Amino acid sequence: MKPEDVEKLFEGMPRKRICFLPTPLHKLENMSRKYGVAIYMKRDDLTGPSPFGGNKTRKLEFIVGSALQDNIEYLISLGGYQSNSSMQIVSFCRICGLKPILYLADVINQGIPKEHKGNLLLNKIMGSEINYVLKDYEGPDINPLWNKMIELCHKRKVELESQGHKVRVLPSGVVDPEGLVAYVLAFKEIVEQADVLNVKFDYLYHTTGTGGSLPGMIAGKMLLESAMKIISIACNPYGPDEICNEAMVCDRVESVFKKLNLKVPGRDLIFKEINIDQNYFGEGYGIPTEEATLAIRELALEEGLFVDPVYTGKGLSGLLSHIRKGKIPQGSKVVFLHTGGSGALFSEEGLTGALAEE
Ligand SMILES: *Cc1c(COP(=O)(O)O)cnc(C)c1O
Repeated sequence: MKPEDVEKLFEGMPRKRICFLPTPLHKLENMSRKYGVAIYMKRDDLTGPSPFGGNKTRKLEFIVGSALQDNIEYLISLGGYQSNSSMQIVSFCRICGLKPILYLADVINQGIPKEHKGNLLLNKIMGSEINYVLKDYEGPDINPLWNKMIELCHKRKVELESQGHKVRVLPSGVVDPEGLVAYVLAFKEIVEQADVLNVKFDYLYHTTGTGGSLPGMIAGKMLLESAMKIISIACNPYGPDEICNEAMVCDRVESVFKKLNLKVPGRDLIFKEINIDQNYFGEGYGIPTEEATLAIRELALEEGLFVDPVYTGKGLSGLLSHIRKGKIPQGSKVVFLHTGGSGALFSEEGLTGALAEE
């Protein structure tokens, strides 16, 4: 399939266009020279509408498009205090006249926040209703906390519906089936931009979390028969009892094909496209790693730009480590998808790894 044909598959789909597309794709000259690998960056941190966009905004175009068609009034969602997806949801709500309700979890056991920083501050400025949910146990396992949050969201939905309101709950990371198709188009954009720049990328690196962006990219790769190998660096554990796993990614790729009214490829073919590296999230979601902290600083020193401690810093640390270990041959061409998250750089030390201090 050609890029134009992929675009056609989306005609007539409910979509509220907010993003500034295509997002830029540019070369990191200094990093490329230093590592002997051509490193480009796809700037999905610049999706807009605010300077703190990110990968959730692309998905929200489709989710909100359909919510508006269904006359939804309230969007309820959940995440950590510094949740990027929650902030992008509130942004969308403000544009479209929807009412945002957030349940935000204390993932790093800091208690009720004494100050509002980073995304939490942005959510406050945008006037969102915010409910804090404390983690009443120690350790990095966030699953029990997440289950409690999901329960709270649904309880609230039932409450509002009993008062006659129309409500939608968006899952954490906005991994809503409606939004999964968005990253087919992002992959298509990369292919088109590579064409214009006249580079053939060998690898596409990105950070995977709730697994909402990877399925669309895999579907896009399969549709466009691209040779680019997608490598995902996990920022949280993947596995049978975790927030995401390979079988779920595979299911979601299938659902993307179905949503686009296309024949679903065999699961063995889909599985071949899934490459998730779990060696770079450290102790767990939202807990800084030394490697990510160093990657953040290195990118800032070399290129004057920023990745975040929770997602893209860990992803970049994975890419750089793969290059150092020779997993990526010298002379290769790589594109790193910057999925956003810059707001977290202005958050509490527990998340940033106290970057500013030394
Ligand atoms: C959510 C998020 C990710 C992970 O993307 P998924 O679609 O959840 O896998 C990566 N980077 C940032 C900045 C994010 O907010």
